Amino acid sequence: MDFDFSADEKRFIEEVRAFLREQALLPDAADVMAPNRDSDSMLSDTPARRRFNREMAKRGYLGMSWPKEYGGSEKSGIYEYLLNEELARVGAPLIGKGIGIVGKTLIRHGSDKLKTEFLPKIRNAEIEFALGYSEPGAGSDLASLKLKAERSGEGWLFNGQKIWNTSAHFADWYWLAARTDPQAAKHKGISLFLVPMHEKGITVSAIHTLGEHRTNHVFLDNVWVHDDYRVGELNKGWTYISEALDFERFTIYPFSPLEAKLEQMWKHIKTTQRNGQRLTAVPEIRRQMARLVAQVETAKMLQRSVIFSASQGGVPTVEASMCKLYTTALSQRLANTMMDILGADGLLHKSWPDAPDAGKWEWLYRSSALETIGAGTSEIQKNIIARRGLGLPLTN
Ligand SMILES: Cc1cc2nc3c(=O)[nH]c(=O)nc-3n(C[C@H](O)[C@H](O)[C@H](O)COP(=O)(O)OP(=O)(O)OC[C@H]3O[C@@H](n4cnc5c(N)ncnc54)[C@H](O)[C@@H]3O)c2cc1C
Repeated sequence: MDFDFSADEKRFIEEVRAFLREQALLPDAADVMAPNRDSDSMLSDTPARRRFNREMAKRGYLGMSWPKEYGGSEKSGIYEYLLNEELARVGAPLIGKGIGIVGKTLIRHGSDKLKTEFLPKIRNAEIEFALGYSEPGAGSDLASLKLKAERSGEGWLFNGQKIWNTSAHFADWYWLAARTDPQAAKHKGISLFLVPMHEKGITVSAIHTLGEHRTNHVFLDNVWVHDDYRVGELNKGWTYISEALDFERFTIYPFSPLEAKLEQMWKHIKTTQRNGQRLTAVPEIRRQMARLVAQVETAKMLQRSVIFSASQGGVPTVEASMCKLYTTALSQRLANTMMDILGADGLLHKSWPDAPDAGKWEWLYRSSALETIGAGTSEIQKNIIARRGLGLPLTN
């Protein structure tokens, strides 16, 4: 296994870093680039954030892996991964739902009408999407989703509710999974739709999570959409959702924030004294730090194995699950360790002037709790490793 990036990939990383340095000079940079405070900039909708996304589009960073006929440059998915790593390092918004999930699914399965209408807008960063998958009774077991889509004239009538939907409060379009055949086996009666987020009958209400990441409850009450906005074949939605998840495995788990947090932790330890003693001289802190350095390096190798597997033409499902399982738990260990080191001061919120490192650690402690849940919980990652990696049978 080659752990290093190719010369061209390294050149691309440098190019993105130069682009980000340029962006950091702009007056509204703080609005879009917030190192290790990724929740604010990535998940709010501000003019600066939309401007930043349009700049990425102008540089050709959106749709790099798309076919040329749809305005892409047919680069390997590694470039999208590398781009996201650099964006995540500085807390800038990642490329994701539009380019990865919606765009790639439309390219493979969408009608000409949907391709013509959506692909240029996605590539030019003109529209934002929210993913409407989870429901109160369907998260890990997503195929149990119940939101109804019933035929009505030339279109479909939607009734039901979704939960935990990120970006639904500012998205323009909803990528919605709905049950179109209640009689069929649960994986076989689901279809995918594109629904305008501001359609009559849609109500969005906020759910603020522990880590300040706003998600939403979305209620659909007799929302009507023309059949033209059905994506792909009827009742094949589950296949498209699973396929899109495979595309996304490349881009949804950036490693760089972990590395950046370790660096900041190290900086704090190196520059702080307590009761006249440097923290670097405290044996327990030295042990903890050495352990974390080794574990972050392990996480990096897991991340490289995802890239390597994909670069060989594979779908790195098991590697990505191992990486997600390990890095998200490590992020929590890192936050826990820092809370132990800081003692009571670690509990101070950013609104307190005395909060260490402007409250970063208190926030990190809360927000890292979400990482082992979103995009598939740790238990689900273990199930994937057990079943697909080790070939173990289902237990229920
Ligand atoms: C920050 C954040 C953002 C999100 N954004 C979106 C979004 O934009 N759109 C969207 O549709 N959803 C979104 N989600 C929802 C997310 O996908 C679900 O929360 C996740 O899939 C878990 O589902 P659940 O919350 O229903 O928990 P459940 O599935 O009810 O799980 C509860 C517990 O049971 C465990 N469990 C469940 N099944 C098994 C099993 N088979 N074996 C062992 N243990 C099991 C789980 O690991 C967990 O510990 C988001 C979630 C978070 C935290």
